[in-house]
Amino acid sequence: MKPEAAFIDRDGTINHKAPEGDYVKSVSEFSFLPGAVQGLRLLTDNGVRIVIVTNQRGIARGVMTASDLAEIHRWMLSKLSAAGAHVEAIYHCPHDHGQCSCRKPQLGMFLDAERQLPGLELSRSVVVGDSETDMQAGERLGVPRVLIGAGPVTPEVSYCAPSLLEAARWIISGYQRPSTTLTASRQRIDQGSVGQRSAIVTTLASETGSPAPRRYC
Ligand SMILES: [Mg+2]
Ligand SMILES: [Zn+2]
Repeated sequence: MKPEAAFIDRDGTINHKAPEGDYVKSVSEFSFLPGAVQGLRLLTDNGVRIVIVTNQRGIARGVMTASDLAEIHRWMLSKLSAAGAHVEAIYHCPHDHGQCSCRKPQLGMFLDAERQLPGLELSRSVVVGDSETDMQAGERLGVPRVLIGAGPVTPEVSYCAPSLLEAARWIISGYQRPSTTLTASRQRIDQGSVGQRSAIVTTLASETGSPAPRRYC
């Protein structure tokens, strides 16, 4: 079953992350990751609605403004649009830790999207991101979650992908396509359904002692 909508993180998923403690503050600091534009295009071509959900704490910390962010997003959307990738909405959390209900892993941005975007159902979505907070949000929603990169993360992940393009290929396959990045044992896991896979991953986790953050990919 293919999802109706994909909630996609931005930094580290669509574009190169800023160095630790820094933020992407201007268009000149923004660069797409390999496969990101193509992945968004593939989702668009296959009718998957795309919503970007991004924590932007740099605004609360005063290193960038909401209008800096808006300019980056205008530029990003124009590039994506030119490439045939349609992003339906971008939600950002401008707050610092512990000040709001929208900073991932909280679900405020997802709930706003469900309320504001006609026909969008959270239960028929997938979450894609590169960090613990993305995977936690997906876990709270109870929907499949795709980890870009190698983690480590605490929640079970449904699929590991080296790029947004690989993530998109798996999503449009209806969660069937085998991973090219999993180890031999995990490839066996990947051949089952999402449910079976979760069960096996859980077993592996209990064998190795959870819930410490671990590398799934
Ligand atoms: Mg990220
Ligand atoms: Zn917030």
